[in-house]
Amino acid sequence: MKTLVISDIHANLTALEAVLEDAGKVDNVWCLGDLVGYGPDPNECIERITQLPNLRCILGNHDAAALRNIEVDAFNPEARTAILWTQQRLTPANSEYLQSLPERVDVDHITLVHGSPRQPVWEYLLDTRTATVNFGYFDTPYCVVGHTHLPVIYYLPDEGLTAQLIVPENTTQMTLAPRAILNPGSVGQPRDRDPRASYAVLDFTDYTWEWYRVEYDIPAVQERMRKFNLPERHIARLSAGW
Ligand code: ZN
Repeated sequence: MKTLVISDIHANLTALEAVLEDAGKVDNVWCLGDLVGYGPDPNECIERITQLPNLRCILGNHDAAALRNIEVDAFNPEARTAILWTQQRLTPANSEYLQSLPERVDVDHITLVHGSPRQPVWEYLLDTRTATVNFGYFDTPYCVVGHTHLPVIYYLPDEGLTAQLIVPENTTQMTLAPRAILNPGSVGQPRDRDPRASYAVLDFTDYTWEWYRVEYDIPAVQERMRKFNLPERHIARLSAGW
């Protein structure tokens, strides 16, 4: 049973297609939110995602902002520009799809959220201290998150200890042991100085988690962003992965 775990596509269809091709056949797909925001293809990404097998999808903060459920003032000026553009661009059917997304689901003993189990839409898990506290906010053995655009695992071998940080440079594949918070990284806008699209595959037969990176045609995405007058800073960051 192979589950493709993806997050933070951010309206980057070229990166999404590269990930889907690289991952090949999977049984399930979990998408941890932020389907839109930043990139030039919000409708195309939603339409592609909804075709995937056994899809479970979660609401992200950029999705909520595109639905006007979050004030755009909560975002920096460039992110705000991209959100306002996305609001204009989304078709009614795709807005309705985003509107239907839950903030949190439990599936197969795993909790799915965008940010953190404590604050599903907004909180960033960027350090072991915040992660340790968050182990108190879910009961399942594992929780998968996105939002930071950084592929990492926070591992808590015993309650009462501080979570340990595991990053893919040390190991690209690991067998999971309870409990852990797992982040597959970002498909459409990685921020770990590696511009390649990031994703993970969880295999339920032996509980292995494997990280993958895949190259995609970044200039093609940047060209579409320029055509739509999206912020130059967002265009530039795709090439460098920050
Ligand atoms: Zn995001």
